[in-house]
Amino acid sequence: MGILGISLIPNCAPSLEKKETREKNINPNSKEGLPIVISTWFHGLEANKVAMAIIQKDGKAIDAVEQGVMTAEADPENTSVGLGGLPDRDGNVTLDACIMDETGNCGSVSFLQNIKHPISVARKVMEDTPHVMLSGAGALQFALAHGFQEENLLTEKSKIAWEKWKKESKYQPIINIENHDTIGLLAIDKQGNIAGACTTSGLAYKMHGRVGDSPIIGAGMFVDNEVGGACATGMGEAVLKTLGSFLVVELMRQGASPQEACEEAVKRITKKQNYKDFQIGYLAINKKGEHGAYCIHKGFNYALSQGEKNEMYDANFYHQ
Ligand code: ASP
Repeated sequence: MGILGISLIPNCAPSLEKKETREKNINPNSKEGLPIVISTWFHGLEANKVAMAIIQKDGKAIDAVEQGVMTAEADPENTSVGLGGLPDRDGNVTLDACIMDETGNCGSVSFLQNIKHPISVARKVMEDTPHVMLSGAGALQFALAHGFQEENLLTEKSKIAWEKWKKESKYQPIINIENHDTIGLLAIDKQGNIAGACTTSGLAYKMHGRVGDSPIIGAGMFVDNEVGGACATGMGEAVLKTLGSFLVVELMRQGASPQEACEEAVKRITKKQNYKDFQIGYLAINKKGEHGAYCIHKGFNYALSQGEKNEMYDANFYHQ
């Protein structure tokens, strides 16, 4: 027994120590610092600007994330979010969105039509109902009862694109090229509180009724105020199958850096799914304001606002 004890201790001790002091894989653009706002794709720059202005005036992260992503929802030129979003294959613009605050409270809407700001309806679901998610006609009814106005979201530009697509009716996602480009945005305010928002018109020319990852808490976005937050963009089905954003946050809880967590979440997808034809991008932040970003294929970029700067960066990728 004594001999066994002695022989076990030297074996265990170095490996524990190694775990604690091991070099972490840190994103080269990442540094500690609060407050921070980070969001997906190029439309993130404008969203970050609005979100950070709220935070700099001592505003709350939850207000910052909502108002930040509203810029993309209101932009008719943006064909993947809100007004001007590309429709499903029957010509309907259908929207998915979710929001989550520092207390773990969250709200979401899916398959919502004719409302420009689904993120604000999601926030109302969070604040004014005992539920987390409302969908379709019920979500619309709720929105109208809370003062949202119905409007046609199919712009001329998106209608023309859909009519062109209808001639061939071929559903073929083109990596990084705009059949999808959700905005996911994460923020930490001056109090150190984290919130996140995610909003999209989903995959262009999808089947009517299709709902992606973006309104699903834990798939398209997740925050935990003790740990950090994560959001996803790209082929929603792949994120749903792996509950990606929850996975990223849980990996960080267990000691992974934001970059390591994003990379592992991508690898869970590439290990089992035929990833060659679709893109996935993850963003993550931890409580210190460090961030991570990773995608399957080259081409996913993100906007980071920290300190004085608000700039675009390219995410590292799994597959050239
Ligand atoms: N994840 C979104 C969806 O599958 C699309 C996107 O990110 O562009 O609906």
